[in-house]
Amino acid sequence: RIGTAALAVQVVGSNWPKPHYTLLVTGLCRFQILQLLKEKPYPVAEVEQLDRLEQFTNQHKSEEELGELSEQFYKYAVQLVEMLDMSVPAVAKLRRLLDNLPREALPDILTSIIRTSNREKLQILDAVSLEERFKMTIPLLVRQIEGLKLLQKTRKPKQDDDKRVVAIRPNRRINHIPSTAEDEEEEEDHDDVVMLEKKIRTSSMSEQALKVCLKEIKRLKKMPQSMPEYALTRNYLELMVELPWNKSTKDRLEIRAARILLDNDHYAMEKLKKRVLEYLAVRQLKNNLKGPILCFVGPPGVGKTSVGRSIAKTLGREFHRIALGGVCDQSDIRGHRRTYVGSMPGRIINGLKTVGVNNPVFLLDEVDKLGKSLQGDPAAALLEVLDPEQNHSFTDHYLNVAFDLSQVLFIATANTTATIPPALLDRMEIIQVPGYTQEEKIEIAHRHLIPKQLEQHGLTPQQIQIPQVTTLDIITRYTREAGVRSLDRKLGAICRAVAVKVAEGQHKETKPDRAEVGEGEDCKEHVTEDAKPESISDAADLALPPEMPILIDFHALKDILGPPMYEMEVSERLSQPGVAIGLAWTPLGGEIMFVEASRMDGEGQLTLTGQLGDVMKESAHLAISWLRSNAKRYQLTNASGSFDLLDNTDIHLHFPAGAVTKDGPSAGVTIVTCLASLFSGRLVCSDVAMTGEITLRGLVLPVGGIKDKVLAAHRAGLKRVIIPQRNEKDLEEIAVNVRQDLTFVMASCLDEVLNAAFDGGFAVKPRVERLNSKL
Ligand code: ADP
Repeated sequence: RIGTAALAVQVVGSNWPKPHYTLLVTGLCRFQILQLLKEKPYPVAEVEQLDRLEQFTNQHKSEEELGELSEQFYKYAVQLVEMLDMSVPAVAKLRRLLDNLPREALPDILTSIIRTSNREKLQILDAVSLEERFKMTIPLLVRQIEGLKLLQKTRKPKQDDDKRVVAIRPNRRINHIPSTAEDEEEEEDHDDVVMLEKKIRTSSMSEQALKVCLKEIKRLKKMPQSMPEYALTRNYLELMVELPWNKSTKDRLEIRAARILLDNDHYAMEKLKKRVLEYLAVRQLKNNLKGPILCFVGPPGVGKTSVGRSIAKTLGREFHRIALGGVCDQSDIRGHRRTYVGSMPGRIINGLKTVGVNNPVFLLDEVDKLGKSLQGDPAAALLEVLDPEQNHSFTDHYLNVAFDLSQVLFIATANTTATIPPALLDRMEIIQVPGYTQEEKIEIAHRHLIPKQLEQHGLTPQQIQIPQVTTLDIITRYTREAGVRSLDRKLGAICRAVAVKVAEGQHKETKPDRAEVGEGEDCKEHVTEDAKPESISDAADLALPPEMPILIDFHALKDILGPPMYEMEVSERLSQPGVAIGLAWTPLGGEIMFVEASRMDGEGQLTLTGQLGDVMKESAHLAISWLRSNAKRYQLTNASGSFDLLDNTDIHLHFPAGAVTKDGPSAGVTIVTCLASLFSGRLVCSDVAMTGEITLRGLVLPVGGIKDKVLAAHRAGLKRVIIPQRNEKDLEEIAVNVRQDLTFVMASCLDEVLNAAFDGGFAVKPRVERLNSKL
């Protein structure tokens, strides 16, 4: 109940790396608590001041006795100080203080300077009577003197000549003078540093790292705690100790088990699974594989991340995902140098610290979305990480010593290879993960997504039933995507709605009991809830719990998810000339794309709208030029009957969905078809989609992303797909059932495209052809 009143002179604090404050206070006097007035948020008490310096000078009674005691104390104090190195200014100052200060103040001051345990210090503080205080402090002084004598006998005492250190933390200086007495309560922070040193010595870090750490800890010992660098250095050392220099998990790899696990976790994606198994098999045969880095490329939601996780599971390794999307500072990868305020290690080292072993599976997510900025190119930093020849000595700027990354298994994912820097691409083996067909999506939904969602929502198959037709409805009418993420979300929405019904049903069952207990209000609430119209099952009786299992049919679907978002608009759109369907590839998978054209009186201008890139604009010009040069051949005329299609005519080409930038040469054939339809006045078949690059001479060149594009056409319910002849080989990758649903037309020139796109063909007039050949 005794404390010291003090005046806060200075508060220094920092929030980084951990919140810490240094308080500089001047002690005023002792006080005693008479009555505690309040405890929160901080204690307030009525106190009584206990020692007042003038009080002692007035106490004549004990002065003599005290005089003796204080004289004795003064002698010991002088003896102690004189044993120290007087050339140190702080010691000289202390010597002067001994003479100048009133004797009564000396016990308190010396106790704080000599080596004493916290308990001893508190005892001195508690000693209110001056006599008692003198008596208690003298043995401590004597102990310190004895200790010093012993030390001087063995070696010359070494003084710390750092003036600041002495001034700020006097007992740090004394720490250099070991005392013979057993001191149980070491200074807490000093203890920590010693512990840290012990940890460093026992940790299995590399020799180079150990050398750096020991040097740092030496500096740390000399540093006052209030220095910002103290926290920095300490954090650095703590990180070094925590890093898994030599800690690894044992790989358990059995290819047969791996195959089963991969198959269980993922439906379809045969090509990807095959390659992953090959990779794992090689790893099993040859330990320590300096193999390629696998990079899964495909639209979102096709399971790239989740395959990465499965690989970690099969290997029995830790898994860590590093999201690289939007990273544009190379120190994100490599860390900041420790000279910066707020410097940190990079994500790789941080990840290693998190997983605590040096052989995890690192999934570098979205490598195609790395940015670039003034702070350097993170992709370049990744080069070193991913290169098996170099990454055994990866040097993070923060650590400043090499760390061996060769045991880490890196897997990258991306939506497109187009934006991955070539050097980085070169170090990775690309595995394309295309989107799913409708059938695959249904299977994935029923094997994986629905069971997972049921579990997450606490439902059982006895409570909810989603038939395959409903899943197909969700896939075709509520989602339009290559992956299964939004399908998963929709299923989640259904489960939530059903969970409400099931929970309500349970309430209804328990309602009578509750009424008996007399929870009148509660019951009223239920009645109003019950009165709400049933939204899931039409058959559900309001008074009874919904029948289990709740069947999700089309009506229920409409209630839960709202009206269908996507309808088959294809036939409607193609009801007039000047519209054609193209196939586009986007990082999000394949998509069908409408091209619309109209003509009007004008001066032969071409207007293009719909956020087009340069290549797309060129394709449009190419298409017009080709049609103009072949107008006679095909008997195409403008409104006034002239073969010069642009004579007094303006053409407007539009690519709907203007919010999306479109670029690439593959729309060439679609634009030609669309314009041919416009000028001939004939309708393009409503179930045909096409893709292909064109040349001025009317050839059709191959394009990329055929698989995704064909899947998109299939999703949209189209029947015929026109692709360039030279893309025929790409069809092999497409599932048989999709191929069976579609008719493919391989076109090597635009004549073939037009013939396939119009019902009854797009005949070339022989007479015109002759004329043309004369040209
Ligand atoms: P990505 O990384 O390709 O964007 P994710 O790996 O996050 O996609 O996958 C999204 C979700 O879809 C995950 O919950 C995953 O389990 C599921 N999923 C995707 N493909 C499959 C598949 N073939 N079999 C089972 N689940 C799948």
